[in-house]
Amino acid sequence: MDGCIFCKIAKGEIPSSKVYEDDFVLAFLDLNPASLGHALVIPKKHAATLLDLEPGSGEALLQAMRKIGKALRKVVKADGFNCLQNNFSAAGQEVMHLHWHVIPRHEGDQVIKTWAPGKYENMEQMAALAGQLKAEI
Ligand code: 5GP
Ligand code: ZN
Repeated sequence: MDGCIFCKIAKGEIPSSKVYEDDFVLAFLDLNPASLGHALVIPKKHAATLLDLEPGSGEALLQAMRKIGKALRKVVKADGFNCLQNNFSAAGQEVMHLHWHVIPRHEGDQVIKTWAPGKYENMEQMAALAGQLKAEI
């Protein structure tokens, strides 16, 4: 897609530090890493958000993340890793080409602050919301 920075990276029009590539997927290091080795995994074909991903193409992305996670555990001695994916600006998406962050984690690091757990008013409220979602899906 014209003007999309990750499409340009996928086409090799601008440089990136590639860590993995196959017919459908490219993975490269994030320019501003949350921790060293932080990689981005993208479909080569432009999709703005997860809602635009072609059905059936998720498996290649998932397998790429598995490979990268496994490598990060060896290369940067990560104890764990997060796979994060933001959709739309409200959720923190800045680059509008679908991507997963694969972020190496070490025991006790403060790299990612998690959310404060909330509560439903009661079980009926929770069940009603689940019902609405199920009906919509
Ligand atoms: P988002 O907030 O959209 O989920 O994350 C976008 C990520 O892309 C950010 O972590 C940012 O550092 C990274 N990024 C933005 N532009 C470039 C670039 O040109 N090259 C690389 N390697 N990473 C980029
Ligand atoms: Zn794109």
